Amino acid sequence: MIIKKDKSIIQNYFEDNSGVGGSNADFVAVVETEDDIPSFLSEMSKTNTPVTVAGALTGNTASGLAFGGAILSLEKLNKISEIERVDDSNAVIAVQSGAKTNDIKLKAYSAGWMYPPDPTEKNASIGGNISTNASGGRGFKFGVTRDYVKALKVVFSDGSISFVERGKYFADGNGAITFDTNKGKKCIMLPSYHLPVIKNAAGYYNYTKADLVDVFIGSEGTICVIVEAVLKLIPHFKEVFGGIVFFEKRNDAYEFVNKIKTISKKTKEGCLKNSISAMSLEYFDKNALLLIRNDYPIIPENIEAGIMFEQDVYEDNQEVLTEKWVKVIESSNIDLEKIWFAFTVEEQEKFRIFRHRIPERVNEMVKKNKVPKVGTDFAVPEGKLLEIIDFCDREFAKAGVFNLTFGHIGENHLHANIVATSKGEYEKCRQVYANIAGKVVELGGTVSAEHGIGKLKHIFLEKMLGEEGFKEMAKFKKSFDESGILGQDNIFPKKYVLL
Ligand SMILES: Cc1cc2nc3c(=O)[nH]c(=O)nc-3n(C[C@H](O)[C@H](O)[C@H](O)COP(=O)(O)OP(=O)(O)OC[C@H]3O[C@@H](n4cnc5c(N)ncnc54)[C@H](O)[C@@H]3O)c2cc1C
Repeated sequence: MIIKKDKSIIQNYFEDNSGVGGSNADFVAVVETEDDIPSFLSEMSKTNTPVTVAGALTGNTASGLAFGGAILSLEKLNKISEIERVDDSNAVIAVQSGAKTNDIKLKAYSAGWMYPPDPTEKNASIGGNISTNASGGRGFKFGVTRDYVKALKVVFSDGSISFVERGKYFADGNGAITFDTNKGKKCIMLPSYHLPVIKNAAGYYNYTKADLVDVFIGSEGTICVIVEAVLKLIPHFKEVFGGIVFFEKRNDAYEFVNKIKTISKKTKEGCLKNSISAMSLEYFDKNALLLIRNDYPIIPENIEAGIMFEQDVYEDNQEVLTEKWVKVIESSNIDLEKIWFAFTVEEQEKFRIFRHRIPERVNEMVKKNKVPKVGTDFAVPEGKLLEIIDFCDREFAKAGVFNLTFGHIGENHLHANIVATSKGEYEKCRQVYANIAGKVVELGGTVSAEHGIGKLKHIFLEKMLGEEGFKEMAKFKKSFDESGILGQDNIFPKKYVLL
């Protein structure tokens, strides 16, 4: 274990993409081998020292930022194993949690396999992705990080270790899970609150018959340290094509998305090969497009929205599929001149950079203004999207704040960013966010579908799960982390642990 104390060196660990200031720690413990972790954690437990696990600190919610105590960094644990082929459709890869998502994806790709979760920020660590249940652009077809985690090696704050394979430990009818560690059995009880059955990254996982692996995923560094993961890979597509389509009328964009979603669903249900099946469907509103127009003059003037779509191709049928897309496009009030197409993996990379540029520009503004980020991460049930977009519009207009919205429209999951220019305006923006969160909950949605709650979004999660939910979560956390040192103030306010 390398212990770093020099403030000028450790200050790199005091910033993520949330824009939250004031992070501090007594020291950073950089793990050199996995064996360092159990003794370190039991020592920290004995001395009651808070421990915040830092991944690559690309998070948006300050969950990787410490406010006192120790920072535990697994950056040197970044090994990626050779790929193990299971059959023609499946392979697995073992990774240490400090490995970068991009390195895992590239290793899989070079061998003809794919690690499908595709968060736009590729410099994140896989430990961070698992701890937030990250997703990204291709979730519409491939789902979220959770869907590709087959096993986890975790260490608890008492120094005990568990290797948990998917399918081994499940919650019983009362929500209790008993499992093995190297120091004997542990028994935990899941919280009993109700989570929406949609894409979700808010609160501890507690669905019926929950698999223990799923309980650790999305736990934001609060119940265990994730050391290793075994990930599922699937065959990589042969080719990919897609487009960014610009719309003069926003409603035309929504109609286009609905058409593609309906066809994609039928393609999936019928296992059809020569039919449209979108891999991603991404939305950009007018302000999001205007924000990057200087970098991308290809964005036409006078447009209200843009949709980026991608289709993965596995056989020699790209031409047939392209024709089908063009037909839908032509029937959707879209000027073919106003489409930016990509027909290869290399060209597609330009789309990724395009999409990434928007949150990057927002983060630059947040840094410049020195005010924390106010960005929604909500998802709503099917059929409720237009209602929430209209609600957001009314809230933005009432408050008169600069806003832009983009995100994963295929999954009814949007990032409405409200950019505050001063501390005073920040409070106003938070109120707008709170109002939106209230409406999202009223519609049966979630306040976080991929970034997690961290230290910034307690009040929004409270709208979903109530104070009772916080109390249950605190009790649940204690059953893993008796000393209460891990990830304090992440997901719910730390005062609940001290009750
Ligand atoms: C430009 C930009 C685009 C982004 N796009 C996306 C996107 O498309 N989809 C998406 O989901 N997110 C996105 N994000 C957010 C961010 O990249 C993710 O939340 C990511 O999963 C964070 O990983 P990290 O390694 O940076 O973790 P950190 O930010 O360092 O930490 C995040 C959380 O994980 C915990 N943690 C980290 N490692 C471990 C471990 N080994 N054991 C236990 N807990 C651990 C931390 O304690 C913390 O609670 C984006 C961010 C940026 C800046």
